[in-house]
Amino acid sequence: MMIDIEKLIAQQNLLQKLEYLIDKDYSMAIDVLRLDKIHLIASGNKLFKLAIPLQKATDKNATTIITKGGIYSNHLIATAYMCNKKGLQSIGIIKAHHTIKLTSTLKDCENLGMKFVFMQPSDFNNPEKIQECISNYNNNFWIDMGGYSEEGAEGCKKILTITHHNPYTHIITAVGTGTTLAGLSLSASKHQKIIGISSMKNNTSLLLEINKLLQNKIYAPFEIIHDFHFNGFAKPSPLLITFMNDLYKKHTIPTDIVYTAKLFYAVNQLIKSKFFSTNHKLLIIHTGGLQGNRSLPKGTLLF
Ligand SMILES: *Cc1c(COP(=O)(O)O)cnc(C)c1O
Repeated sequence: MMIDIEKLIAQQNLLQKLEYLIDKDYSMAIDVLRLDKIHLIASGNKLFKLAIPLQKATDKNATTIITKGGIYSNHLIATAYMCNKKGLQSIGIIKAHHTIKLTSTLKDCENLGMKFVFMQPSDFNNPEKIQECISNYNNNFWIDMGGYSEEGAEGCKKILTITHHNPYTHIITAVGTGTTLAGLSLSASKHQKIIGISSMKNNTSLLLEINKLLQNKIYAPFEIIHDFHFNGFAKPSPLLITFMNDLYKKHTIPTDIVYTAKLFYAVNQLIKSKFFSTNHKLLIIHTGGLQGNRSLPKGTLLF
C-alpha cells in the first residue's frame, strides 16, 4: 500500500492563524502549518522526506531499507511506519549500548516490523562499521541518518503546496540535517526568505551539507540561526519546558523538546528583538516530532 500523503493532508485544515505568539504586546501575522497533525507517530516532515527515497528503493527492487538513529528518533519511527505500509523490511541501526531497555519509540518501531542492530557510539559513527552492517542484507537500500538526501529535499518541496504560500515574507523551520529547509528553499518564491533554527549544538558542517543539496538548482535565500540549540539533544532546560507549556496554554500548539519547541522559542525571541518588522508575514512550519516527548518524565508537559 502506498502512503497517500495528499489524502492525510486533505483530511484536516493544517493552517492555524495567530495574532501573537506568547505576548500580546508583540502582535504580528503568524501562521503555523501544523504538519504535526498529519500523523500521530510518523513525524510531519519525515513523511515528505522519505516518500521519494522509498519510491527509489522499490524501483530498484530493494526489499530491505536500512537506516540509523537514536533511541527516540523521529526518523526511525517514520521509516518503520512507511516501510510497514509499503511492505518493506526495515532495519534500524541504533546508537546505544548492547543492553538497553527498549524505549517507547523503539517499541513502536518494533511493532511496525523494524529489526534493530545496536551499536556503540564509536561504531555507530564509523562509516566502515556501518558499511559492514549494511552488507549483511540482500537487496538493501540505505537511507542516511535523519533522511538527509537530495531526494528527501525534493519530497519536502511538497510541503509548501499545502497552503497558498506567496503572501508570506518569511518561512521558518526547525533544522536537523537541513533537508527540510533545502526543500522549502527550492519551492519558495524568490521574494521569500527561509529561516532555519538549528537544533544541534555547534553544527558547523550544516551549511556545507545544505549547499550540497542545493547545488546547481534555483532556490530562495535562507539563513540559519544557531543561537537556540539549548545545548543540543542534552537534558531539556526548564526554560524551554515552561515555554512549551505556555505556548500550549495560549494556542493549544503542542511542540517537541528537540526541534519545534526551540523553533517557536526562537521565533518569539526574534519577534521581541525586532528581527522582523510588523509588516512581515510569517509562516512557521510545525514539523511534528511529538512522539519524542516520551523521553521526558511523566507530568513534565501539559499535553
Ligand atoms: C527530523 C526533524 C526535523 C529536522 O529535519 P531536517 O530535514 O533533518 O532538517 C525537524 N523537526 C522535527 C520534528 C523532526 O523530527
